[in-house]
Amino acid sequence: MATGPRAVVIGSGVGGLAAAIRLACSGHSVDVFEAADGPGGKLSEFRIGGYRFDRGPSLFTRPDLIEELFQLAGVPVEAHFRHQRLDEANRYFWEDGTRLTAWSDPERMAREMEARLGVDARRVLRYLERSADLMQSTGSTFLEHSLHAWSDLRKGDVPGAMRRIRWPELFGSLHDVNRKELGHDKAVQLFDRYATYNGSDPFRTPGLMRMIPALEHGDGVFLPKGGMYSITRALHELAERVGVRFHFNAPVERILLGPEGRSVQGVQVNGAPHSADVVMSNMDVVPTYRHLLPDTPAPERILRQERSSSAIVFYWGVRTVHPDLGLHNILFTKDSRAEFRSLFQDLTVCDDPTVYINITSIHEPGDAPTGRSNWFTMVNAPRDAGQFGPELIQRVRRQVMDKVQRTLGLDLSPLIEVEEVLDAPAIQQLTSSHAGSLYGTASNSPLSAFLRHPNFHRRTKGLFFCGGSVHPGGGIPLALLSARIAAYFANSRTHAPA
Ligand SMILES: Cc1cc2nc3c(=O)[nH]c(=O)nc-3n(C[C@H](O)[C@H](O)[C@H](O)COP(=O)(O)OP(=O)(O)OC[C@H]3O[C@@H](n4cnc5c(N)ncnc54)[C@H](O)[C@@H]3O)c2cc1C
Repeated sequence: MATGPRAVVIGSGVGGLAAAIRLACSGHSVDVFEAADGPGGKLSEFRIGGYRFDRGPSLFTRPDLIEELFQLAGVPVEAHFRHQRLDEANRYFWEDGTRLTAWSDPERMAREMEARLGVDARRVLRYLERSADLMQSTGSTFLEHSLHAWSDLRKGDVPGAMRRIRWPELFGSLHDVNRKELGHDKAVQLFDRYATYNGSDPFRTPGLMRMIPALEHGDGVFLPKGGMYSITRALHELAERVGVRFHFNAPVERILLGPEGRSVQGVQVNGAPHSADVVMSNMDVVPTYRHLLPDTPAPERILRQERSSSAIVFYWGVRTVHPDLGLHNILFTKDSRAEFRSLFQDLTVCDDPTVYINITSIHEPGDAPTGRSNWFTMVNAPRDAGQFGPELIQRVRRQVMDKVQRTLGLDLSPLIEVEEVLDAPAIQQLTSSHAGSLYGTASNSPLSAFLRHPNFHRRTKGLFFCGGSVHPGGGIPLALLSARIAAYFANSRTHAPA
């Protein structure tokens, strides 16, 4: 067992698990306190009536970030985690009968878009090449370094990265860039959708977000063997293997500070102190300040940033296998502008929401009984502002079923044999995610990247932050990167003078 500095990680979401592994690998003695009865946070699973469902994330990119943790620990990844790269990324459906399969390979994707939509393949390819260029030239600067410490800013070469961004990509919206470069309504709608990958509004998020498709159409879409939850399982196993101790059903009540709040002393759990040299909060940063640090001045400007969107998810056990559906399916709204206005201004769900259907039983037969399928059916929903309730859920449920009927010609209602529902208040209740947001703060302004909470506390030595609510943002890959950045600071600040 490590006898180095003592570290406490608050929460075992994917960011907390990764941070615990990194801290243990650098010689810390690590305890993870988790409020729930198991690890994973949003990345969890449940079983009902012979079906298995991943509760939260369904799309997996950047497996290298998981592999990196195993390499760091010197443990062969294959024994704990396996995945495959998929040729097919998504299936897109419009109500007018247009259908398109999106391929991981950019050239194949461009040819498909030309064949199905009539948009010039060269134009699509140019668009995707620019996405990849941007991801390569600026992604590392903004996502892999802290934007809050001079030493790291210099390493990340922010001025160099800024020079490589075109003016409209910084100050125009993603929608404006897509419209100018693709000039085709359905192609624009398809690439606008990537704003939702970090819970943002394509009509406001900067054009720079055009780099997101490079993950799917280039790197590729991946399928973890055993479902998304196998990511949590693998990281939990690895953490235990490197000596991390887990305490479940153990909500942290306070972060304990030294005189004048200059250093951490540990945490309070079940009324008892647990001392530590390093405290890493994987809990959403808003409740971390509001509940665990009530006497510490909070960075209000950061905590009041607009939150990302949330979701309403219907987990349906469906008594059929629909031949037209793949792993990831998108049934588009007829009016994207109205959909995003509802989400971010009116804070409700519009009458014709885009519907996302994820069916893992296509690849994992054990996820549903024979001849049946496990539908994870999700619509984007606003952050929780008190508007959720049975009426909203029933309305959206009816609208989703109508949409499936109009687009796929399937009467779903009599085929549903089991059902569970998740909405923003439930996400908040299950994971403490402020307002039930999926991705922390939204990226609806060019400054958003700089207005996330740093991965360290500016005043309190030994206090660090990881997970989707802090820099560099939400989603599995970014939560993993947040852990890498936060652990880097934790290591340099406990082993060497601050
Ligand atoms: C429905 C849905 C769909 C999504 N789809 C995708 C997707 O397809 N792809 C993708 O990459 N991302 C997706 N996301 C986002 C992704 O799940 C998150 O960004 C990521 O999992 C967040 O991880 P995290 O490290 O921030 O921790 P979280 O998952 O937020 O976990 C935080 C943990 O802290 C614990 N905790 C909170 N307070 C305390 C306390 N006081 N004491 C102890 N423990 C505490 C919680 O119980 C929880 O386990 C989705 C999310 C949801 C909900």
